[in-house]
Amino acid sequence: MSNMFCFQCEQTAGGKACTNMGVCGKTPAVSNRQDELTCALVGLARAAEGSEPTRKTHELMLEGLFTTVTNVNFDESRINDLIAKIEQEKSKLGGAENLSSDVLWKGDPDLVSLRSTLLLGLRGMAAYAWHAWVLGKEDPDVTNWFYKGMRALGEEHSVEEWLELLMAFGSINLKCMALLDEANTSTYGHPVPVKVSTIIEKGPFIVVSGHDLLDLKMLLEQTEGKGISIYTHGEMLPAHGYPELKKHAHLKGNFGTAWQSQQKEFDSIPGPVLFTTNCLMPPKSNYFDRVFSTATVGYPGVVHIPDGANGHKDFTPVINKALELGGYTEDHVMTGINGGTELMTGFARNTVLGAADTVINAVKTGAIRHFFLVGGCDGAKPGRNYYTDFVKQSPKDTVILTLACGKFRFNDLDIGEIGGLPRIMDMGQCNDAYSAIQVAIALANAFNCGVNDLPLTLVLSWYEQKAVCILLTLLALGLKNIYIGPSIPAFFSSNVLSVLVEKFGIKPISTPEADLKAILG
Ligand code: SF4
Repeated sequence: MSNMFCFQCEQTAGGKACTNMGVCGKTPAVSNRQDELTCALVGLARAAEGSEPTRKTHELMLEGLFTTVTNVNFDESRINDLIAKIEQEKSKLGGAENLSSDVLWKGDPDLVSLRSTLLLGLRGMAAYAWHAWVLGKEDPDVTNWFYKGMRALGEEHSVEEWLELLMAFGSINLKCMALLDEANTSTYGHPVPVKVSTIIEKGPFIVVSGHDLLDLKMLLEQTEGKGISIYTHGEMLPAHGYPELKKHAHLKGNFGTAWQSQQKEFDSIPGPVLFTTNCLMPPKSNYFDRVFSTATVGYPGVVHIPDGANGHKDFTPVINKALELGGYTEDHVMTGINGGTELMTGFARNTVLGAADTVINAVKTGAIRHFFLVGGCDGAKPGRNYYTDFVKQSPKDTVILTLACGKFRFNDLDIGEIGGLPRIMDMGQCNDAYSAIQVAIALANAFNCGVNDLPLTLVLSWYEQKAVCILLTLLALGLKNIYIGPSIPAFFSSNVLSVLVEKFGIKPISTPEADLKAILG
């Protein structure tokens, strides 16, 4: 008899499922409450059918799903509060039966696989919709799909119907990423290329982790003129490219590498760390009192910064902690995993498409032979050095587009330029897969061919549920021959995997040498 069941991320126990304790640190109690939360959201979706869900209902749907994403919320009491709010909202809509948590992960293996893929994709998309939501942007088609998708979890569907639903979901997630792109660029401007230092200057500082640019913006405003430097961490790195964020001179640089190194990199850190979204790992005692959470993030005993009126947050406890700890007494040199002290970001669609003539000419003259999109999430498994080696071994006439935190495997490398453009171009966070898709479509139009006919190969790393929704979008767009690693998701049954291989040519990564040879010949 197992204590819990969770197989939603790449580090799941034994490559199968966490059944006694989450490898991420999630306890059985939290895991089981997250299942109850999911089942209550199915009930909420059922109650919303034929009634009139409000903005509050939508917000609970997004918050509930986002809360269950890997490394977001470990706090059982917060999850219980959320379930209570969902039950209250459900009653207001006339009530409905929740899904039974007994059936959530049980049944025919292929149907469980397909149903789980949809649920996990919805969890990922909820994160993107949430970031757009807090910036006042909503797309009714996207919002309605959460209800449709959650209801589907409690319905009987054939394998073909599930596959159709997954493709429809992939298309709606593209809309959601477009919505977030619009929300970010209309609020903060289009990212521009920028060099980001990894050196932490002496004096008080705050590290901001996660993906939420609005939390960063509010903190930048509240620390203005206080002598506190702000450093991004992990997926927050691309914030440096946005004009409305980079204009704050005390947004100084980036702290450390990807999320999975935090327990080592935050050891006795003389400054606070604010987690705005995933990826939070159980904090060690040598820095526990410096960790703060906000929004959907939670950990028992960690100080939480709540929402105030009109979405305003008061970051005073974080600011006071920065002043109290005082920072390093001398400049503190940190490096990327390859020893570099400078990272480049800001190559989102506007910048890359602005250089379209240069790029197209370089392809026509043979200066660029091939593009690789080496992107996705990073993780702790040793096999992930594949991505570093892949980039190091990529020939000099190839370009590496990248996004999400998988880039920390190689974003401190200087591998040269082609025609004035760096060979590694960081397009942003995981949701900026939208930017990459727009660039690929523009290139296909310029060369009058399909995206699959471009000299472009996607080499993806996955870890959590946002990667699931992006993968489904890429498949819905008809992209083929995607390389995926470091392992195949545990929630793909062997039959489902066979379908994906047969229909879309999905390929597990092997070695950089063999994969580069297979791609480039
Ligand atoms: Fe295990 Fe990943 Fe689930 Fe955590 S999120 S319990 S590591 S499968």
